[in-house]
Amino acid sequence: SKGDMKILLLENINNQAIVSFRDQGYQVESYRDALPESVLIDKIRDVHAIGIRSKTKLSREVLKHAKNLMVIGCYCIGTNQVDLDYAANMGVAVFNSPFSNSRSVAELVLADIISLARRITDRSSQLRQGQWDNSSKHCHEVRGKTVGIIGYGHIGSQLSVLAEAMGMQVLYYDILNIMAIGKAKQVSTMEELLNKSDFVTLHVPETSETKNLISKSQISAMKQGSYLINSSRGSVVDTAALIGGLKSEKLLGVALDVYPNEPRYNGGNMFTDKLNKWTSELIKLPNSVTGLEVSEAIANFITQGISVDAVNFPEVSLRQTNFADDALRILFAHEDVPGVLRAVNDILATHNIEKQYSESSNGIAYVITDLSSVTQNDVNSIYNQLDRIPEKVTVRLIY
Ligand code: NAD
Repeated sequence: SKGDMKILLLENINNQAIVSFRDQGYQVESYRDALPESVLIDKIRDVHAIGIRSKTKLSREVLKHAKNLMVIGCYCIGTNQVDLDYAANMGVAVFNSPFSNSRSVAELVLADIISLARRITDRSSQLRQGQWDNSSKHCHEVRGKTVGIIGYGHIGSQLSVLAEAMGMQVLYYDILNIMAIGKAKQVSTMEELLNKSDFVTLHVPETSETKNLISKSQISAMKQGSYLINSSRGSVVDTAALIGGLKSEKLLGVALDVYPNEPRYNGGNMFTDKLNKWTSELIKLPNSVTGLEVSEAIANFITQGISVDAVNFPEVSLRQTNFADDALRILFAHEDVPGVLRAVNDILATHNIEKQYSESSNGIAYVITDLSSVTQNDVNSIYNQLDRIPEKVTVRLIY
């Protein structure tokens, strides 16, 4: 039962995650920091789930002490801190939060847009130097202005929703045909987007095609007095062209949240508006979307065995439809060699299989089977037989 399940949360994981697990009846132990390895080994021995960020190293030396562990939640993007193969071979699924900061980036871009339009950073630094300036030259509302989004993926599409809510027109350009959200319009060339947008914002991945995607000719194609925002990757914008655009006042401002690795150009007063590297700090801040997403994956794996979006484990989702008292869900992870599924089904042959779904990856296979009309004796016998299959990695019964 959930009351017997122990969840260990390290590295100051969002309070919402703690509360939500407690509300569901789990025992939760949480720490602000990563634990020293010896303490971690001691704590991990009997927990069923562990939530971490990037500082907790779950190496095989640590994981081998975990006797009850079912699931690891990384409340961050990276999963290098976990020995994924070793975990998979223990039957432990690992989840992360690959798009956890999409919304954060989109919100930051929204802040960038308003800051650029109102010259907030300039005014702020002037005031800090004791200068009074309440002129509104080049300051305007963003309502009715057009934002052009290059790359309409996770971040670009989130931004689309937010910008439209502020009364902006949204255009986007993407190499894929992507369905528009709200009243946004996809344009077929980047040039059209550049011609028509007051704010151009970049949300493409770093690839050989996106290197210097915004260069001299793209900046010339932009509207006079427009703004450029880059929070994708530094390599996407040619910095010399950018500086040229600012100097000529083609661009009234630029917000950069990312920089190329090349020698840095001097920012200084060349930028009329410049928002600095907030993003790297922002990523470190706890964010509630991250908290809930990973927690949900942990809870679904514990209560139903669903492993969709696991990074190291075959992804299986089987909707539970039978909640009768005599229903049994069997979660069986095994080495991916021929004949095991048959052995499992031989054991289950006399029972009523309602649904079964199996998936394999990286040498591990995982099968979820739902049975109906099962007695307590059946449960014990099924467990004992499955447990003896030589290729078994883990067996778990939910009833
Ligand atoms: P995503 O993969 O969801 O979306 C990228 C989109 O760009 C896709 O729709 C793709 O089809 C499109 N695309 C690819 N090549 C293109 C091209 N040449 N021209 C036009 N469109 C193209 O990615 P995402 O999660 O939205 O992230 C977008 C960018 O933001 C990535 O570069 C990512 O590294 C960066 N990012 C930055 C931060 C930050 O802190 N600033 C945080 C997260 C992600």
